[in-house]
Amino acid sequence: MNRQDILTSLKSCSPKVLIIGGGINGVGTFRDLTLQGVDTLLIDRADFCSGASAASSRMAHGGVRYLENGEFRLVREAVQERNRMIQNAPSLVKPLPTTIPIFKTFSGLFNAPLKFLGWLERPSERGGLIIKVGLIFYDAFTGKTRAVPRHIFDNRSISQKKYPRINPAVRYTATYYDGIILSPERLTLELLLDAEREGDHARALNYVSLIGANGDRATLKDEVTGQTVDIAPRLIINAAGPWVDQTNRSMGLSTHYVGPTKGSHLVLDAPELREAIGDHEFFFENKDGRIVLIFPLFDKVMIGTSDIPIEEPDSVRCTEEEVDYFIEMVGRVFPGIQVSRKQIAFRFSGVRPLAYTKVKNAGQITRDHHIQEDKLGEIPVYSLVGGKWTSFRAFSEQVTDRVLAFLGLPRKADTKSLPIGTGKAAIALKTDPHFTRSEIASMAEREKIIHLDDLVLRRTLLGYLGQLTHPLVEELANALGESLGWEGEQKKAEVRRALEILADKHAVCL
Ligand SMILES: Cc1cc2nc3c(=O)[nH]c(=O)nc-3n(C[C@H](O)[C@H](O)[C@H](O)COP(=O)(O)OP(=O)(O)OC[C@H]3O[C@@H](n4cnc5c(N)ncnc54)[C@H](O)[C@@H]3O)c2cc1C
Repeated sequence: MNRQDILTSLKSCSPKVLIIGGGINGVGTFRDLTLQGVDTLLIDRADFCSGASAASSRMAHGGVRYLENGEFRLVREAVQERNRMIQNAPSLVKPLPTTIPIFKTFSGLFNAPLKFLGWLERPSERGGLIIKVGLIFYDAFTGKTRAVPRHIFDNRSISQKKYPRINPAVRYTATYYDGIILSPERLTLELLLDAEREGDHARALNYVSLIGANGDRATLKDEVTGQTVDIAPRLIINAAGPWVDQTNRSMGLSTHYVGPTKGSHLVLDAPELREAIGDHEFFFENKDGRIVLIFPLFDKVMIGTSDIPIEEPDSVRCTEEEVDYFIEMVGRVFPGIQVSRKQIAFRFSGVRPLAYTKVKNAGQITRDHHIQEDKLGEIPVYSLVGGKWTSFRAFSEQVTDRVLAFLGLPRKADTKSLPIGTGKAAIALKTDPHFTRSEIASMAEREKIIHLDDLVLRRTLLGYLGQLTHPLVEELANALGESLGWEGEQKKAEVRRALEILADKHAVCL
């Protein structure tokens, strides 16, 4: 069914389950539910994967640092999910060697017990010994699958041979493996399209918002035409990420489940730094104790990230202060390499939908996930709280099992080893940034593109990797416009909109 078919179908046929939010958790749940044959509608008020899920650090990881918080269940689950992502979506998620530069030996040994006793506001710098212990646990969680190799530890002289530009003050390096999600946007879309192939009981619409509820009816608004439609699902899943409470409020439910924190990144066109890191992510503790990263992304380098508690998730941007911080932090590991503002190809910011807590240090807030249940009249509303990109499948499974129990249906299919999409477009891009017109036409037909920015920011990595030029944006608008029926004025408006978003949100001025 195309967009219009789905919108028309809603007037006569309400879905059994409504999912609000087309980030990774909404889409993961959509795939799992539709695999079980459940009639499900997923909506997103913007494009799919345009919220927190597009702002992640692209790490498929267990989160070795959460071991220090005693979060063994979370880390074990996420490590196993990381392995599954590498196996189920091999062209979009690949093993990533991750190197920790270590400046001390014994420091940080008491972080974990002090945290447990609640006596630690800011952990002291982690030394070689405690990192070694953490990585032994981390390897053990991988189990027998061996999707990635075990960690190695190198002393100063070997580290300097391997990374000649590394800070001479680094005493050891530890290298372990996680995964890189090459394009979270495409992975989300592949999952969504897989779900829709299950049949007409799987309906998904971008640019459709939930704007209110009345008794057992939810009111949806088509953001393209402004038209509204009322539907009467048997169950609602609120997967609105950082907007969970806001969305509950629009249905008349007063909740405070999420305590959001903002995180930003820069994508740099910095060949010297790119060469210095090889294909390794450098994951380290900055001078102020924040865990930060220098990350290989195709021929670019991504650096980040911040973790700043905020109230309002709508208008976050990567600030000049954050830019200064990121640029300076590179010098801790590679003091001989100058990074400058001129090398910034793209910047982005997003909001983590963390569970609300009174903990003051944002880095110590749990990344674990859970479901909260409320009632809209007789209809259950499940709010999805917290979670990591990496553990989306497990979270979706947990939500789906609860929905199946409510509906009295059995589980028919399992997602643990289910391959995801094809992922071809993400690697095509690596060798040739220029798509053919027929590829654009095929994306327009298959991939629910409404606006030009959907194409340049999420269906491809063109924006992200700093490969856009003004003429290319115009050419893409022409190619896309042919398929989507844009006339002269509409095409110009789409170009204007895309350029404004690039400039406003990502400081890309074309
Ligand atoms: C800076 C940063 C770095 C991160 N790094 C990593 C990492 O490296 N690895 C990792 O595993 N995890 C990482 N995460 C965490 C991970 O990205 C998030 O936990 C995950 O993406 C949350 O997905 P979600 O589907 O719950 O929310 P979202 O992706 O935000 O999806 C919610 C959707 O709901 C829609 N919506 C909101 N209100 C409405 C409404 N009224 N009607 C319709 N739609 C609505 C929004 O448009 C949005 O698309 C990071 C997060 C951030 C912010």
